[in-house]
Amino acid sequence: MGKKVSKIGVLTSGGDSPGMNAAIRAVVRTGLYYGLEMYGIMRGYQGMIEDDICKMESRSVANIIQRGGTILKTARCKEFFEYEGRKKAYDNLILRGIDGLVIIGGDGSFRGAVKFSEEFDIPCIGLAGTIDKDISGTDFTIGFDTAVNTAVEAIDKVRDTMDAHDRIFIIEVMGRDAGYIALHSGIATGAENILIPERKTNMDDVIASLLEKERRKKLVNLIVVAEGDDFGGANKVQSVLKEKLPNAEIRVCILGHIQRGGAPSSLDRLTASRMGYHAIECLLQGRYNVFVGIMNNKMHYMPLGDAVKNKGKISDEWLRIVKILAS
Ligand code: ADP
Repeated sequence: MGKKVSKIGVLTSGGDSPGMNAAIRAVVRTGLYYGLEMYGIMRGYQGMIEDDICKMESRSVANIIQRGGTILKTARCKEFFEYEGRKKAYDNLILRGIDGLVIIGGDGSFRGAVKFSEEFDIPCIGLAGTIDKDISGTDFTIGFDTAVNTAVEAIDKVRDTMDAHDRIFIIEVMGRDAGYIALHSGIATGAENILIPERKTNMDDVIASLLEKERRKKLVNLIVVAEGDDFGGANKVQSVLKEKLPNAEIRVCILGHIQRGGAPSSLDRLTASRMGYHAIECLLQGRYNVFVGIMNNKMHYMPLGDAVKNKGKISDEWLRIVKILAS
């Protein structure tokens, strides 16, 4: 057990994700419920360094649970990579008496928090706000479900036109290191091929499957590729396929940033609310420098450093399902 906390800062850092606002709301309202003073830190670690911090009351987080983005704004902050930057941030927190932090962000933000908590005596709690679900120790990350739903809605629309014209469509979704958005949206839209960074892409296999489908006169084919696939993105896949399938009409659609925005799904709102509540519980119980996840529908805590080191793994079962259902 560490010393008791009384003033908590909350910040969103790195890439934004839908549901961050719901998490801020849960952190602030739970903290206030327990009699803590709550502070919003603007633009992630940048606001900590620049002392861009404001006191938050219950009304400060009214009417935001349904909004995408983050009212605290987010940023990537170069200065925080250096000790001097982190020291400046620490000094600002000390002057204000802030003695605990809740960081809502991705693995980069947690790497920063790990360093900060090792150097200074301010406990940090990490909540995974990332659409990519590229962090181990949790079945859900805040924003993933919304991003998948957005991708599914877009792909369904593309499929209508794809079907009308008998085309092959290659759709690129987000996921630099993790293929979860591609996997989930691909399965949910009946994709014939799903290409993800976790598996080496064998383009000969993809071509063979398309040629076989061409023989069967199945001309509509959907390929979902994660932006970080080892073979390359959708444009690279298209250029190779065009060579090998000269008669096919092959189009590319890159979904891009629409996957980050929009109102969070109900699942993301629930996840964010539950995690936000438990972040404060952790600080009150002296469970410091942990990552708050949910596994098998139970809260799951692990040292922040472990959340950074381990990536989630995509099970072979899912890949087998993709293969069987695509026939
Ligand atoms: P995300 O949290 O979405 O993965 P980034 O990787 O951009 O996003 O990280 C967000 C911020 O966290 C960075 O801009 C930087 O301020 C901080 N950060 C990331 N990695 C480190 C590190 N190794 N040391 C210190 N700060 C870091």
